[in-house]
Amino acid sequence: MTTETTAQTFGHIIAGKEVAAADGSTFPAINPYTQQEYARVAQGRAADVDAAIQAARAAFDSGVWSGLGYGKRSALIARLADLIERETEALARAETIDMGKPIAQSRHDIGRTVANFRFFADHAKVSESAVYPSDTGHHAYTRYEAAGVVVAIAPWNFPMMLESWKVAPALAWGNTVVLKPSEDSSATATMMGRLAIEAGFPDGVLNVVHGAGETGGLLTSDDRVDRITFTGSSATGRIIAQAAGSRLIPVSLELGGKGANVVFDDADLDNAVHWSCEAIFRNAGQVCLAGSRLFVQRGIYDAFMEKFVAAAKALVPGDPLNEGTTFGPLASVKHHKKVTGYLDTIEANGGTVVTGGRAGDGLFVEPTIVTGLGTDTPHYREEIFGPLVVVTPFDTEDEAAALANGTPYGLNAIEFTENLSRAHRFAAKLKAGTVWTNTFFIRDLRAPFGGVGHSGVGREGGNFSREFFTEPKAIVMQISDESE
Ligand code: ADP
Repeated sequence: MTTETTAQTFGHIIAGKEVAAADGSTFPAINPYTQQEYARVAQGRAADVDAAIQAARAAFDSGVWSGLGYGKRSALIARLADLIERETEALARAETIDMGKPIAQSRHDIGRTVANFRFFADHAKVSESAVYPSDTGHHAYTRYEAAGVVVAIAPWNFPMMLESWKVAPALAWGNTVVLKPSEDSSATATMMGRLAIEAGFPDGVLNVVHGAGETGGLLTSDDRVDRITFTGSSATGRIIAQAAGSRLIPVSLELGGKGANVVFDDADLDNAVHWSCEAIFRNAGQVCLAGSRLFVQRGIYDAFMEKFVAAAKALVPGDPLNEGTTFGPLASVKHHKKVTGYLDTIEANGGTVVTGGRAGDGLFVEPTIVTGLGTDTPHYREEIFGPLVVVTPFDTEDEAAALANGTPYGLNAIEFTENLSRAHRFAAKLKAGTVWTNTFFIRDLRAPFGGVGHSGVGREGGNFSREFFTEPKAIVMQISDESE
C-alpha cells in the first residue's frame, strides 16, 4: 500500500504566479485508494475568481497573446507540450494518486494530453479560411478572431486530458483562459499552470482556479467571460447553459452518456470482447463514453458472454500505483456511494448478476455484468459512471437500432461487425455524436466530438473547436470595375 505523507499544496495560477487563496483557505485532496488526505488545495472564492478573470481579461485586452500571432503562440503551446511530455511520470502519478486510475492508464492520458497540445498548435498554423469570390463586383473572405476570455470547467475522470481539449484550442486561437478543474482532481491543473509559466507564457494567459460547484458558478456568471466550455454531468450542464443563455454567450457542453455497444453475430469475437471490456471497465467505468448497455446478437451470445465474463474476472484490482494493476477504486466516497446504490437494487429490478455485483475493499466496486434488466430500469436508463454493464440479447438489426437509440443520451455508440455494408448502414442509424466500429476510444482530433440529446451541445475538435473559440468575421469588399 502506498501512503502519501508529503504536505503538498496546489495553488491557483493567476497572472503568471502560483498563489494561495485570497483568504488563505484550502480544501483537502484525497487519495481514493488510501482514503487519506495527501495535499491541500487553494479554495477559490469570489476574490480568487475575480482576480483570475481580471488577469485573463487584461491579458486578452492588451493583445499580449492574441496579438502575438499564430506562429509564436503555436511555438509556446508546443513548448508546453514538450514540458508536459518531460513530466509524464510525475503527472501520471499525480492523477493516479488524485483519482485512483491505474498508472498505465494515467500515462496513456498524459500522452494524449501532449498530443492534444501539439495537434492544436499545429492546427492553428495550417488552418485555412473560406474565400467567397464573386463575379458581381465583390469579394468576401473570413477572419477567425479570438473570442476573448474562455472559462473551461472540467471533470475528474480524465483530468488533464479533457482539460487539454479545451485549453489547447482556446489558446491556439488567441484566447486567454481560466480553467477550473474538478475539486476531486485538482493536482495536474496546477502542474499544467506551473509548466506554462516555465514555458514562458505571458502572465494571465492561462489561469487556474480551484474549487467545487460554487466556484464554477462564480466563473460562469461573470460578465467579463466570452465563452464557457464544460465537460461534466448533464445536470450541471443544464445550470451552466442557463448561465450562458442569460448572458448570450456561446457554450459548449460535453455531458453524460449511456453508450450502446452492439455486437453482431458476424463480429470478430476476440476483438469484440477486448473492446467491450475496455468500454465498460477501463477507468472503472468512470467514462462518459462507457459502453454501459451491451446488446449481443443471439447467435453469438453464449460464446461472447463466456469470454466477456472471463475478461472481466481477469482484471487485476489493487494499488493503482502498482504496474500490474488494471482496475482501480472509484474516485471518491460520494461517487462510490452512488454506484453501490445501483448494485444494491439489481435483483429488485429483475436483474441477474453474472459476475461481480458487490462493493470490494475501500472504494472498490467489482467489475459487474448483469442480464435481465428491462429497458425501463434505472440501471438501463441512467448514467451510473461505474463498472456495471447491462447485457441484452437481440435478433435483428432494426431491433438493435431501436434498443441502442432508446435513451435520451447520444454521446457515442460502438458496433462490432465484419460486414462492411452493415457497419456503414447501422452506424448511420445510430443517434450518437461518435460511432466506433470494431474499436473504441480512438479520437481523431480533426473529427467532431460531442453528443446529441442530453449528451451535450456543440462539438469539439479541429475546425469545430475553431468555430467555437473564435468569432468568424466576414470581410466583404467591393471591387471596382474601373481600371486605372
Ligand atoms: P460530477 O458529479 O461527476 O463531479 P459535475 O458535473 O458536478 O460532475 O462536475 C463537473 C465539473 O463541474 C466540476 O469541475 C465541478 O466542480 C463543476 N461544477 C459543479 N457544479 C457546478 C455549477 N453549478 N456551476 C459550474 N460548475 C460546476
